[in-house]
Amino acid sequence: MKYTNLLDRFIHYVKINTRSDAESSTRPSTPNQMQFLKELAEELKTIGLKEVTINSKSNYCTATLPANISKKVPVVGFIAHVDTADFNSENVQPQIIKNYDGKSKIPLGKSGYNLDIVNSPNLKKYFGDTLITTDGTTLLGADDKAGVTEIVSAMEYLIAHPEIKHGKVRIGFGTDEETGFGADNFDVDDFGADYAYTIDGGTEGELEWETFNAASLNVQIQGYSIHPSVAYKKMINALQIAIDFHQSLPQDEFPENTKDRQGFFHLTKLNGTVDHAEMFYIIRDFDRQGLLNRQKLVEEIANQLNKKYDGLRVKVKITNQYYNMAEVLKEHPEVINLAKKAMKNLGIKPIEVPVRGGTDGSKISFMGLPTPNLFAGGENMHGRYEYISLQVMEKAADVILQIINLTANNNN
Ligand SMILES: [Zn+2]
Repeated sequence: MKYTNLLDRFIHYVKINTRSDAESSTRPSTPNQMQFLKELAEELKTIGLKEVTINSKSNYCTATLPANISKKVPVVGFIAHVDTADFNSENVQPQIIKNYDGKSKIPLGKSGYNLDIVNSPNLKKYFGDTLITTDGTTLLGADDKAGVTEIVSAMEYLIAHPEIKHGKVRIGFGTDEETGFGADNFDVDDFGADYAYTIDGGTEGELEWETFNAASLNVQIQGYSIHPSVAYKKMINALQIAIDFHQSLPQDEFPENTKDRQGFFHLTKLNGTVDHAEMFYIIRDFDRQGLLNRQKLVEEIANQLNKKYDGLRVKVKITNQYYNMAEVLKEHPEVINLAKKAMKNLGIKPIEVPVRGGTDGSKISFMGLPTPNLFAGGENMHGRYEYISLQVMEKAADVILQIINLTANNNN
């Protein structure tokens, strides 16, 4: 096997609990992530990478594979995240299924849950592959331990094969991607790459360079609470205003009614009493103007309700989260074309789909480092049905090597 340690490395990583926590105010959001970064830093030094550093401001661990050619070529970067999604990640016990037949049901340990073609139609693609699954009690964490594994294994391979000529490569492993703030303090200057790729996509071939524009919305509603027996013409029920607010949004623009390139309003939390209520939404749109229009609509609804209830009862606060990285990457088509060429050279069909979400690359691209997202191979991310093919992980590592090779040969 080309990447001798890849499977063991992956199994070792996924067993380490690195779940992040969106409610936490510490950075990283959980201490386990930093613990893992420290272990990873030691491993990177051991395999022979240079300038291994954990940046205490950005909470990224970065390292360098120095060039072994004198010709000046671009510096390419590869980035993955160490945290896992908001699902049980304690005591991950992966199962390894060798030579999968492409059709059988796979029992997930003794949990009573099964992976099958009905809940996971992509299983059909993995005839003959080695699959790694959960035991049904946790997620797997292939998102994004697969990306971390593939990058480290590709670096290990290049260090073991000095006859392969390459320019300088930078790698970065971040925290808190799943909570959405991991890349906030990414240090583009310190990273020092000309372009980079996050290895954080799903199925083989995924190449993502378009994401949502994203904002969060907080709605604070002040009611007037009085005993219901004497409420006539006096009580203002904050919960009723909350209902009115939500009903005023276009119902066909909620996530469960949208797909492809349609944006949405998504109510994620609602708390309240008669006296006071608060609502949290996320707002998404591929088009920047579309996002602005949604923000305008929200403000109009608040204004109307304030008129109706005679006073400043509804306050909205909109916070921009990230922008569609296509705005940046359209200026750098060569970065996308390089990834496509790398895949094609390996017989992999690129799948370019707009991501109905964001990636760390959305923020990093706007900081000045064009960073599309490439497949890491995971399927059914963020839950007990998560699984991955060993062979696809090897292909992802091959894509990394191929990109480095094309970069060194100015073949982009
Ligand atoms: Zn991820």
